[in-house]
Amino acid sequence: MWRKNLADLAPSDLDGRRVLIRVDYNVPRAEDGSVSDVTRIRATLPTLRYVLGKGGRPVLLSHLGRPKGRIVPSMSLAPIAPVLAEELGASVRFVPSTDTDEAVSASESLGRGEALLLENTRFLAGEATNDPALAERFARRGDLFVNDAFGSTHRAHASVVGVAEHLRPAVAGFLVQRELEALSGLREARNRPFLLILGGAKIGDKIGLLETFLGAADAVLIGGAMANTFLAATGARMGRSLVEQEAVPVAKRFLETGGDTLRLPTDLVVADPGASDESDSMVVDACAVPPDLAALDIGPDSREAFAAVVRKAGTVFWNGPMGLFEKPGFDAGTVAVARAAADCTASGGFTVIGGGDSAAAIRQAGLSDSVSHVSTGGGASLEYLAEGTLPGIEALDPA
Ligand code: ADP
Ligand code: MG
Repeated sequence: MWRKNLADLAPSDLDGRRVLIRVDYNVPRAEDGSVSDVTRIRATLPTLRYVLGKGGRPVLLSHLGRPKGRIVPSMSLAPIAPVLAEELGASVRFVPSTDTDEAVSASESLGRGEALLLENTRFLAGEATNDPALAERFARRGDLFVNDAFGSTHRAHASVVGVAEHLRPAVAGFLVQRELEALSGLREARNRPFLLILGGAKIGDKIGLLETFLGAADAVLIGGAMANTFLAATGARMGRSLVEQEAVPVAKRFLETGGDTLRLPTDLVVADPGASDESDSMVVDACAVPPDLAALDIGPDSREAFAAVVRKAGTVFWNGPMGLFEKPGFDAGTVAVARAAADCTASGGFTVIGGGDSAAAIRQAGLSDSVSHVSTGGGASLEYLAEGTLPGIEALDPA
């Protein structure tokens, strides 16, 4: 590693000191707001336990969702604190604010053996713009800085990048370090065929990175709502499917330059988007989504075709589920690709799954241990693979 990490610090750097740790607790949630997948919380435990073990007092910053600089009560981090406390086996205090005197004094009065969780950083307008004044105030909540928010490390935000300018040492946590090690392996390995699988819903975030990979990958499989946008770009009518209209022109350009490398689903599972299960779903050709229905999964032919390509790959990077896998009956595409990724791994392939929801999907399929690496970051892992570094890494102390 070319940056310092926690293990490089002297005991006196941690003992009794407030360790400001940026974590990524942007976890999947159930409809009632409760935490539905603890992967990202568990992934930070090695760092938290190490800091507590050395007498440090962890003060945690995270975002959740996209409240866009406003207080959105449904995106409060309050429900995370008890889940973290249970996972960590230590007391976790929660303060419902971040940029306040209350937050600073809570950090100062924090005892040994306990942790403090502050409120959603994205409730503050300066977070996403990396406002230097906000970054400087964030820094007053700690005596040193640790970035263990791998999933957010591609964001030049105040709690990821700006804050590190005001706190030294500024080092990587163990999750960030482990992720970088696994992903550098992927950057170097690239046994052929190198396969990229893209799905999910955050199309705008991911589509730009296709530029880099289209040349490097032997094949790109596209599923999920990402495929809906590409199908729309081919002129298909997508009914009530989730399509990111602003991304259609870019998708069109990729379709023109990508040639045979890009593979879209040929059939889709469609249903009323409001339906609670698959009981009235049906399979249609990818170009024939009925106007009142939405494409919620790839169809059985596409499932089989995609799985066959995955099984034969040498290296696989997969970000984004193939469909609305959280709803019963719309997970078949995601599960089929996950099983094929496990088969590929068993026969010597190197397989990395990235993204909060993708990680949840592979866990739901019970296959987390059957692939080479499950990354907690989607956009971050893609950008790291493309660029070889990330803004939040560059902000840390050189090794
Ligand atoms: P990740 O977190 O793995 O990077 P995204 O956040 O981009 O993935 O997308 C995951 C979300 O996309 C999931 O909630 C999933 O239900 C949704 N999704 C996937 N395909 C569809 C689809 N066809 N229609 C609606 N939502 C979809
Ligand atoms: Mg997601």
